[in-house]
Amino acid sequence: MLKIILHPNPILRKKSLNVANISDKKIQELVPEMMETMIMSNGVGLAAPQIGQNIRLLVAKYKDKNLVVINPIITHKSILKEWDEEGCLSIPNKYGQVRRPKNITVEFFDVQGQKQILKAKGLLARIIQHEIDHLDGILFIDTAKDITDIIY
Ligand code: ZN
Repeated sequence: MLKIILHPNPILRKKSLNVANISDKKIQELVPEMMETMIMSNGVGLAAPQIGQNIRLLVAKYKDKNLVVINPIITHKSILKEWDEEGCLSIPNKYGQVRRPKNITVEFFDVQGQKQILKAKGLLARIIQHEIDHLDGILFIDTAKDITDIIY
């Protein structure tokens, strides 16, 4: 399991660069490690900056699907937005309401280097937007309202 970088580490605020070569051994080994780290941490998404690498790569879990998203570009955002609760593995025990476009279209490359076009809505659209924000150094607390600390 990889170590998750916590806020306010400056790595989380850097803009990440595109993955140059998806077939690179380092990338091919990193992807399953990120997936494992996300699942072991009970997360639904994990972006590469969160494990200390400023590259445009993220993994997400939605229903029974594991998604690997490399060099993503959001090509469409719905005008319709909605509020919902978010948290982040890099900001433990904090939750807040974030307003985001309800539906998006995202183009990216999968781990085999195949181009994919995904139309996502609801929770999956939210997860992908949250994780792409990480690639641009943006955290959900930047725009969230009603931030709550859960104290155990
Ligand atoms: Zn996050």
